[in-house]
Amino acid sequence: MFLEKFGPTQIQRLDENLNGNKFYIKRDDLIPVSFGGNKARKAVLFFNDIFSKGADCVVTYGSSSSNHCRIISNIAASKGLPCYIISPLENSSQTFNRKMVQIFGAKVILCPVSEIKDKISEQLEVLKLQGYNPYFIQGGGHGNLGTQAYVDAYNEIKAFENNTGIHFDYIFFASGTGTTQAGLICGQIINGDDKRIVGISIARKNPYGKQVVLDSVNEFLLNKDIEKIKLDDIYFFDDYVLDGYGSYNPSIIKTIKKVLIQNGIPMDSTYTGKAFYGMEEYVKKNEISGKNILFIHTGGVPLFFDNLEALMN
Ligand SMILES: *Cc1c(COP(=O)(O)O)cnc(C)c1O
Repeated sequence: MFLEKFGPTQIQRLDENLNGNKFYIKRDDLIPVSFGGNKARKAVLFFNDIFSKGADCVVTYGSSSSNHCRIISNIAASKGLPCYIISPLENSSQTFNRKMVQIFGAKVILCPVSEIKDKISEQLEVLKLQGYNPYFIQGGGHGNLGTQAYVDAYNEIKAFENNTGIHFDYIFFASGTGTTQAGLICGQIINGDDKRIVGISIARKNPYGKQVVLDSVNEFLLNKDIEKIKLDDIYFFDDYVLDGYGSYNPSIIKTIKKVLIQNGIPMDSTYTGKAFYGMEEYVKKNEISGKNILFIHTGGVPLFFDNLEALMN
């Protein structure tokens, strides 16, 4: 696999007119690396770092539905690097992502979620003792490189606006570790823009969820001569988390089915479908109308197929 720089992802109009708003979607699900998504955008930067540091194996963390783990293990396999996935026992079903991790030959190490941290340190130590130079990637591609990936995406959005004259008032997307959100916010700060960047939490509750986004923003902007932002400047909403990571309700399934039929775009109930539903509810609740709204499709296409049965009713 050649990790060449890919072009800007497509931004297209959605057939959706809630409250007279115009909706657009940025197709990061079509990033041309291992089924795409925000984890692919981040992974390309992480692997450049891996090669520049001369690391020779990769350790990361994620559940069985993790898109991040699929992509990291795919690229690692293509480069001949051994890959270790530390994964919580509590969240371990035979998803398509997990099956693909097996195809890529990564070693999945299961342990209770409370022991994950120790297990990661232990695995890194074992590899060093064996003479390896391991590289650790935080779950979901969290960290400055992950943030950089969405500063890049923000710049693509700016270029689209400049080319078309369309100005987006809002950007919505699924927020997990908050890295995608931190990158978009940093991109906005660097560009001196005024859009409202709204992360729909897929698991974390506030104030923790918000705080992590702010910490990532501050970490990225450290040493840059830029005015800092406050917790109140971060729009991270936990109203649509339901019972936490992976949980969904019939309204989310209805939303996914509607977007699939109307636009031919697949979404999943853990991330993008939940966020799209959250966006619609937010738009209704806040009576937003007549605006240009951009939704970022952050990927997760294999999860769409895990959900197919639920969509059939
Ligand atoms: C990981 C993931 C997210 C969340 O991204 P973060 O940068 O962790 O907030 C959103 N959508 C999909 C499809 C993902 O796989």
